[in-house]
Amino acid sequence: MNNRKTKYIIVAGGVISGVGKGLATASIAKILQRYGYNTTAIKIDPYINYDAGTLRPTEHGEVWVTDDGGEIDQDLGNYERFLGMYISRMNNITTGQIYKEVIDRERKGEYLGQTVQPIPHITDEIKRRVRQAAEGFDFALVEIGGVIGDYENIPFLFAVKGLEREVGEENVIYVLITYLPIPTHIHEMKTKPTQQAIRLLSESGIFPDFILCRAREPLDEIRKKKIETYANIDADCIISAPDISTLYSIPLNFEKEGFGEKILNKFGLKPKTSPSWQSWEELVKRIENPERVLRVAMVCKYIDIGDYNLSDSYVSINQALEHAGAHLNAEVKIDWIDSKRFEENDKVVKELSNYGGIIVPGGFGTSGAEGKIKAIEFARENDIPYLGLCFGLQLAVVEFARNVCNMPEAHSTEINPHTQYPVIDILPTQKELMEKHQYGGTMRLGAYAATLKKDSMVLKLYTKLHRLEEDRKRIEQLKKDPDQCFRLGILPLGKRAILERHRHRYEVSPQFIDILEESGLVFSGYHLRADGTRLMEFVELAGHRFFIATQAHPEFKSTLEKPAPLFLGFVEAALKGGELNE
Ligand code: GLN
Repeated sequence: MNNRKTKYIIVAGGVISGVGKGLATASIAKILQRYGYNTTAIKIDPYINYDAGTLRPTEHGEVWVTDDGGEIDQDLGNYERFLGMYISRMNNITTGQIYKEVIDRERKGEYLGQTVQPIPHITDEIKRRVRQAAEGFDFALVEIGGVIGDYENIPFLFAVKGLEREVGEENVIYVLITYLPIPTHIHEMKTKPTQQAIRLLSESGIFPDFILCRAREPLDEIRKKKIETYANIDADCIISAPDISTLYSIPLNFEKEGFGEKILNKFGLKPKTSPSWQSWEELVKRIENPERVLRVAMVCKYIDIGDYNLSDSYVSINQALEHAGAHLNAEVKIDWIDSKRFEENDKVVKELSNYGGIIVPGGFGTSGAEGKIKAIEFARENDIPYLGLCFGLQLAVVEFARNVCNMPEAHSTEINPHTQYPVIDILPTQKELMEKHQYGGTMRLGAYAATLKKDSMVLKLYTKLHRLEEDRKRIEQLKKDPDQCFRLGILPLGKRAILERHRHRYEVSPQFIDILEESGLVFSGYHLRADGTRLMEFVELAGHRFFIATQAHPEFKSTLEKPAPLFLGFVEAALKGGELNE
């Protein structure tokens, strides 16, 4: 493997989880990228699940979908959002994948005669996977999930220590992220848990090169000194990381401490470029001090989640709205509305007129679907900007079929398998797979190309944000990849193709397309499968302020610097609602 010169930055967490290890990793990667280095980031998740596709979203947050069809941990979403590049599913390594690979090999007889053991076989496989994902990059950040001292991340710590020997210790540094609590009854920042984390890490033979101190407040000199003495590293290598108002200020704060150059120095490297953060800073300022406020109704399924924050299940949508808002100098405030409320009483739906715009996000299952359909009807009839994402497209088509095309009780067969008008359905090829219980193969996962309709609103928005040129480059890359080129389907000649990511099973049924179109629903983009089936990717309504829905999840490609076209268009249209947007 030709990645001898890749420099590894191992990021591990101490004290407690949930202190922003993923964001710190993404921010360090961003800084190194700005210094001109080709940088990637890898996430190790010590759980046994093969990937995040089967994790409960209310416990683990959103499932992040990669271009190459991976359903992985949402931290990888932060990596992509910060780095603005495609990160493969290979960059998420789980204990499940490692063990499965080793056991599969053992069954094939590849270890014949050997006793297969955690050390060295499991740790060798971890190292192989890390090096594979890092190949060809100047820097690879490797974030180890969980907290030092967790039973389950011991093999990973052992493996990275071994990696150090393989690639040379001059090519590996360690960043420990800890948390310094300020107990309310003493109002004093405590360093003891950090000291314990340093000691625990040393049990794996690892001594941190940097310690990132997360806390409510900045670290003072006295505490810096204490940690310096305990960890036996320069105070310069102790970075204060207090709470911030927006996650996009993290790299800026790190740079105030000169973190990027300090890391380069450790490796004996110099910046290749002098980075400009001006436009990033400008956007951060707008997030911190927006000129306007827009209220958006997110109509979704209520989930009983206890103390859990519902917005965590829709991180990418929140982020995409924040990106669009930053460009338009507006804060987008989201109200999460349980769609079931609209089912109980017809009048309740009128509350939606208090919002600048309405979103129906992705979803699965029957619960609350009728309420969502009511919300969509209200948006359509009252000229309120509407953005439908995946399930939000499917239900917009159902609503249009019922109320405009006179197909009573039209539905998606996911919700009503016996409907007379199955406008959203499983395609025949998928049905065959389902009969064979091969459910995995029935999901459309990852990037798919769509050809956009001439003169459509969708085409205008994608053109305005230069997505056609950008996605064309990606299309050329995919064309050359025999495993991934199926994502393009048959691309008709012309230059109106874009790529968005998918995670769904049902499609607009081809047999209803003509009749829906004749009644005024505009299909403004489609994917043409190699077998000739047209899959509808976008719908819009002419004469409406903004009524656009997509079968894809454009939120996965939105970044602070390049917001997603549909989100920008939606927020812009909603802001024009004038007095609503107080
Ligand atoms: N449940 C729908 C389907 O599987 C929509 C999925 C989604 O919104 N991501 O097709």
